[in-house]
Amino acid sequence: MSVKKDPKQVFSVFVGLGSNLAQPQTQISQAMTEMAQLTDTSLLKQSSLYRSTALGPEPQPDYLNAVVELATALNPHALLKALQAIEAQHGRIRKQRWEPRPLDLDILLYGNQLISTETLIVPHAEMTKRHFVLYPLAEIAPDLVIPGAKNENLNQLLQRCPMAELQKIID
Ligand code: ATP
Ligand code: CA
Ligand code: CA
Repeated sequence: MSVKKDPKQVFSVFVGLGSNLAQPQTQISQAMTEMAQLTDTSLLKQSSLYRSTALGPEPQPDYLNAVVELATALNPHALLKALQAIEAQHGRIRKQRWEPRPLDLDILLYGNQLISTETLIVPHAEMTKRHFVLYPLAEIAPDLVIPGAKNENLNQLLQRCPMAELQKIID
């Protein structure tokens, strides 16, 4: 008798992309292609690009940001590792938080899971306060509810988070 392997469970995952060095637009579009090519992963949706002012104490170039939805069977930590490998291929060297970088890939949501380990917190800890995450996310998933104690609805979060200087790039 043959033993059937469980089919792999596939999750919907939202990833935030950011770049403010070395041709951000190219960095972001290449990263989308590379994420689509990961094992057991496909790209379901991608937002437009947005331009935002950099966070952090020192002046730095503006960021380009976007959000994608992936379907993946990689587990959360395997996905984090894979995304960090893509960042490294793009020349990212980690020194300090919020420094300029050619590519930043943050896991925003992994299905409805709540994850809190030393290396991974999901939903991403700051996502509900960041216009450069919420606006592109709303473009591709307008009815989303952010899992967690408060189960926040994206529309309510957007009302509390003005677009301010954030610009949607129409090309
Ligand atoms: P922020 O997290 O505020 O956007 P950052 O993206 O600049 O800041 P990084 O230097 O890229 O921060 O990452 C620091 C660490 O954050 C990573 O080594 C990773 O282990 C951890 N981390 C925790 N939760 C997540 C997540 N949801 N997605 C990506 N990295 C995460
Ligand atoms: Ca980040
Ligand atoms: Ca990051």
